[in-house]
Amino acid sequence: MTLGFEIFARDGLARTGRLHTAHGTIETPAFMPVGTAATVKAMTPEMVAETGARIVLGNTYHLMLRPTAERVAELGGLHRFMNWPHAILTDSGGFQVMSLAKLRSIGEEGVTFRSHLDGSRHLLSPERSIEIQHLLGADITMAFDECAPFPAERDAVEASTELTLRWAERSRRTFADRPGHGIFGIVQGGVHPDLRERSAAGTTAIGFDGYAVGGLAIGEGRETTFAVLDATVSCLPEDRPHYLMGVGKPADLVGAVKRGIDLFDCVLPTRSGRTGQAFTREGALNLRNARHAADPAPLDPECRCPACTGFSRAYLHHLTKSGEILASMLLTQHNLTYYADLMAEMRAAIERGGLADFAVAFAAAEAGGAPEPPS
Ligand SMILES: [Zn+2]
Repeated sequence: MTLGFEIFARDGLARTGRLHTAHGTIETPAFMPVGTAATVKAMTPEMVAETGARIVLGNTYHLMLRPTAERVAELGGLHRFMNWPHAILTDSGGFQVMSLAKLRSIGEEGVTFRSHLDGSRHLLSPERSIEIQHLLGADITMAFDECAPFPAERDAVEASTELTLRWAERSRRTFADRPGHGIFGIVQGGVHPDLRERSAAGTTAIGFDGYAVGGLAIGEGRETTFAVLDATVSCLPEDRPHYLMGVGKPADLVGAVKRGIDLFDCVLPTRSGRTGQAFTREGALNLRNARHAADPAPLDPECRCPACTGFSRAYLHHLTKSGEILASMLLTQHNLTYYADLMAEMRAAIERGGLADFAVAFAAAEAGGAPEPPS
């Protein structure tokens, strides 16, 4: 246990905290922008830091194939390679190998697969995943897991949950403890509360620096996501960070923070930024829509980002319609600023004991925004 985590304020199950890593301190609850291939797409590292982010996520599956973890290590590690001085969490590759690789097969040892880039053959095992994340120099390493698809037969989910526990044990054993670096275990179990309980108990018994909830927001619906979260978070060590993987929409973040989640990642704000979608305090907007063509107003008058302080909706509409690179840059920076500020507002609300009121006001503002017809 070499990652320091302090909890400062509590409001119901929600809490604010500080996570201390070798590359700085992260105020939680926090959102982690996704930097798949050693870059947060369309952003320089300075722009990412300007949004308020102090931790980004890197993808083991992508980096092991190109440029390879060994190459990144030779060049001084992932922080140096991508010129990001703050913290990095790397995923284990388990989720992406199942969604992206060709001809994959799962066994006790790990997953053998062919690269989606050049068809080359690889084995990703718990030992290899942890070694890759070590070579990259991740501040937070994720245990190698298997995420059962949704929907799936209960027997299949149970077998996958047990395999993930055996892989968690091997991951923990392989991880080299050093100050400021930690490893998180991943709770699986699909939508079955008893399997989630079993997974949480087994993962906790192995002992990790933090605990992630995986395998959610893959099609089960928000109500089920929250029900599973309620059943899972209550089984996790209270004094360690809780990370909800791959989630999500702004309203998902508010609901999950209320349920005791401290860390999030999702491609939504970055991917949406590259397709003309902006998140605002009045809900999501599609900048491609013709109704923005002559609008001199800023995207979000309360936002501090360069897209909102320097430009009109009309200009952002023009850039988006013209396919200009600047559209992706400005809208990604806006969306990440919006997510960072939402997390900061929730931290402030927790500190004053007002998260429930904040959540009500947030839902009302989102619902009150003008409905956006499809472009
Ligand atoms: Zn903005």
